[in-house]
Amino acid sequence: MIGSPHPQHMVTRFAPSPTGRLHIGHGWSALLAMDMARGAGGELRLRIEDIDGTRSRPEHVEGIIEDLRWLGIEWRGEIVFQSRRLSLYDAALETLKGQGLAYPCFCTRAEIAAEIAASGSAPHGGDGPVYPGTCRALDAARRAERIARGDAHCWRLDMERAVAAAGPLVWLDMEGHGVAADPLRAGDVVLARKDAPTSYHLAATVDDAAMGITHVLRGEDLRAATDIHRLLQALLDLPTPLYRHHPLLVDASGRRLAKRTQGLALAELRNAGMDPARLREDLRAMRFPVGIHVAKA
Ligand code: GLU
Repeated sequence: MIGSPHPQHMVTRFAPSPTGRLHIGHGWSALLAMDMARGAGGELRLRIEDIDGTRSRPEHVEGIIEDLRWLGIEWRGEIVFQSRRLSLYDAALETLKGQGLAYPCFCTRAEIAAEIAASGSAPHGGDGPVYPGTCRALDAARRAERIARGDAHCWRLDMERAVAAAGPLVWLDMEGHGVAADPLRAGDVVLARKDAPTSYHLAATVDDAAMGITHVLRGEDLRAATDIHRLLQALLDLPTPLYRHHPLLVDASGRRLAKRTQGLALAELRNAGMDPARLREDLRAMRFPVGIHVAKA
């Protein structure tokens, strides 16, 4: 199913992961989404992507909500917390297992790195090196034996089979242009992690559908993820929103802000006495702090 390019009521979302406080790049992204929704008479929803048991922290959840409120970001409805929706993601995983498209992977990070080094090539799927497929080759008896033994495992999508099952796929950008999805590049992505019963890709795809999201506006770094989400939508028979990927903010040496937020966190600007109305004006006019600019496509 492809969404109409002109849905009647726009529903978009801002979906931060609470692994730290928000910086001005996040603030800009949230503001773009809010302004887009307002301009269309639609609504912005807020979703906290707190499935990462080791890196998500309750104090960051509170901090993020405080940062957004301070900046004047207004969302509609209840905040959606992914950590409270695990049974939904589990049902989607079971569907994919039932289609024979998911398999357990017992590899450690070190084993994956060693396998890639030994093969001499390291194709990149956008999210890091592509999984070399080691556990795809295990037979059913061996899989069952290792699971019964309690060996730690994640679940991966058998990408080649999934792509073959779904056939050629296109997603639409907000200008109505079709973009051919190429999820094969990403390899056998994780559907449920060793330390969490789901993954970003699965949870975000399920939630965008469950929340009735019609328009997804997010950073350019997630363009490759859109190809994967389009595939999961096809396999799970979910509707497809329209997408727009905004450029990322980088520092003077071209590095993404994610790693270097010193002085650029919304909380720091607030503590330094910045007026949020002024910051909104600056961000809307793309007047960023000295040295910070939009990355070239
Ligand atoms: N939680 C993701 C992030 O903070 C964004 C997910 C999305 O917009 O799809 O990078």
